[in-house]
Amino acid sequence: MTAVFCSPLRYTQGPNVTRRIWSEMEILGLGGPALIVTSPQPRRLLEATWQTAFNEAHMGFQVHLFAGECTDAEVNAIASAVRAAGSATIIGAGGGKTLDAARAAAADLQLPFVACPTIASTDAPCSAVAIIYDASGVFVRARILPRNPALVLVDTQIIAQAPVRTLIAGMGDALSTMFEAKACVRSGALNVRGGSCTLAAMAMAELCYRTLLADGAQALADARANRVTPALERIIEANTLLSGLGFESAGLAAAHGVHNGLTAVPGSHAFMHGEKVAFGVLTQLMLEEADEATVDEVLQFCQSVGLPTTLREIGCAELSGTMLAAVAARATTPGELIHNEPFTVTAAMVEAAILAADARGRGFARKN
Ligand SMILES: [Zn+2]
Repeated sequence: MTAVFCSPLRYTQGPNVTRRIWSEMEILGLGGPALIVTSPQPRRLLEATWQTAFNEAHMGFQVHLFAGECTDAEVNAIASAVRAAGSATIIGAGGGKTLDAARAAAADLQLPFVACPTIASTDAPCSAVAIIYDASGVFVRARILPRNPALVLVDTQIIAQAPVRTLIAGMGDALSTMFEAKACVRSGALNVRGGSCTLAAMAMAELCYRTLLADGAQALADARANRVTPALERIIEANTLLSGLGFESAGLAAAHGVHNGLTAVPGSHAFMHGEKVAFGVLTQLMLEEADEATVDEVLQFCQSVGLPTTLREIGCAELSGTMLAAVAARATTPGELIHNEPFTVTAAMVEAAILAADARGRGFARKN
């Protein structure tokens, strides 16, 4: 059994760290000029700071506006822009899709990649995974790239200004990490990078869960007030670093498998990845026949931060028998993450677990 643990070379988090982008790159030996892949909104917030930071170092940078979907064509377009500009480092600044397109282009050109997430909505920024879609937004494949980002630069002042729904969704994604890590360790499934789980990855996954329970509600209140506080800093770290290293180096299982199944329901498309993953966690606990106290603890947490616990809350209220069967079939296709559970999972078991999770969620909401 060979254990593998992967991570970025450097992770820097704090208010206004964008101002230090060049010095952070320089410490790692990263060179310029840089190509920054971003969207109009983060560009408005950050471009003046980039100007100051890069001008001070007499280093140039260019901006490539992300086309909106992480497709093979967009990855190629970024690579062309990098070649035309002669850039030595690729920076992605924005949400998950922007970062993924920039990270895939950097891998294709064998250039270092810097991730600057401007929301804390998923645990993807620290990883070496890029999710590729087609032009209409349908999942095509997950690319596992050779290297993690050289630098992950998390400006908490920027994240504190983002819509709070993105932070809540990030907590939903982070909620799954420990439960999926434990499932993989029990089954002996390999992590995302092809090795078994280290003590370090499991410790991060467990700390991620404890941090959510301890700080989630306070961090949400602080984010609503656009205030960077110690609780918000800890939740941003849990969503981004702890969950990111946890999922990649410990492994994924039923919660993400159920999420993938739920994407078969058109009504779920209006909901964020982490919102569907939260319901996937509940479903995983039903599949695993988890004890009552664990299920109640998860339900209590979800309710405290406004994460969905019922099918209605993820746009699947009218889940007909056929649609439920489609979700279960999609979730249990051969090779799916759900088969990392330590027992055989059938489509019939997934159907029953989804309905049981929904019933528990509705019952909990009525009682509390
Ligand atoms: Zn996820």
